[in-house]
Amino acid sequence: MAIPDADTISSRVGNVQARIRRAEIRYGRPPGSVALLAVSKGHGPEAIRAAFAAGLTRFGESYVQEALGKCAALTDLPLEWAFIGPIQSNKTRDIATHFQWVHSVDRLKIARRLNEQRPAAGPPLAICLQVNVSREPTKSGLDLDALEAVAAEVYGLPRLRLRGLMAIPAPDPDPAQQRRAFRALRRAFESLNRAGMGLDTLSMGMTDDLEAAVAEGATVVRVGTGLFGPRR
Ligand SMILES: *Cc1c(COP(=O)(O)O)cnc(C)c1O
Repeated sequence: MAIPDADTISSRVGNVQARIRRAEIRYGRPPGSVALLAVSKGHGPEAIRAAFAAGLTRFGESYVQEALGKCAALTDLPLEWAFIGPIQSNKTRDIATHFQWVHSVDRLKIARRLNEQRPAAGPPLAICLQVNVSREPTKSGLDLDALEAVAAEVYGLPRLRLRGLMAIPAPDPDPAQQRRAFRALRRAFESLNRAGMGLDTLSMGMTDDLEAAVAEGATVVRVGTGLFGPRR
C-alpha cells in the first residue's frame, strides 16, 4: 500500500473539487450537481481517513478482499462504499453485504445473485449497469444493444435499485473523442429514462477525463490518482 500524507491528500482533494466546480461552471451544470467518488483501491485506510478529514465520504473499491479489510478498519467513519471493479460470482455475497452501491454490474446473472444476497434488513443495493461504450471486445460492460433488456430485468429486482449507468471508455488524449464516448452513455441513459426508469446517476469520468464527462452530463466522477497519487 502506498504511504499516505494527509496534507498532500487534503490539497489534492481541494484541487479535484476545484476542477469539478470549474467544469460545472464552464459547461452550464448546476453547482454541486457532480459528486466525487474517491477511488481508494491500492491505498490503505489511513489515506481514506485523510480524504474523509478533507471532506469526502464516498469511496470506490475494485477488489473485494482488499476492500473488506478497509471497511472493517473504518467502521467508525460514516462512509458510503461503492464497488466499481469486475465482479466474480463467488464474490457477490460480500459485495451485497458490505457495499451500498455497485457501479459495475454487466451481467444479469450477477444482478440476480446480488438481489438474492442483499440482506433483508437494509435498503436495496444501488446499482449502475456498466456499458461498453467504446465497443472494445476485451472490455467488460454491456453492449449498448443489450442494455435495454437487461435494464428492464434489473429494474424489476426488489432488493436492487437501478440508479444509472457507468462506463470506462478507452483512454484517449483527445477531449473531443472523450466527449463522444461519454455522450454515447448519456444518450443510453436518456433513452432508458424515456422508457420510465427514473435513473439519476451517470457515473463517468476519471482523473484524466473528468472535464469531458462533466460536459456530457456526469453526475458522479470516479477519481483515484488525482486524489491519492499513483497506485502501487
Ligand atoms: C481505478 C478506477 C478509477 C480511477 O482511475 P484514476 O485514473 O486513478 O482516477 C475509476 N473508475 C474505475 C472503474 C477504476 O477501476
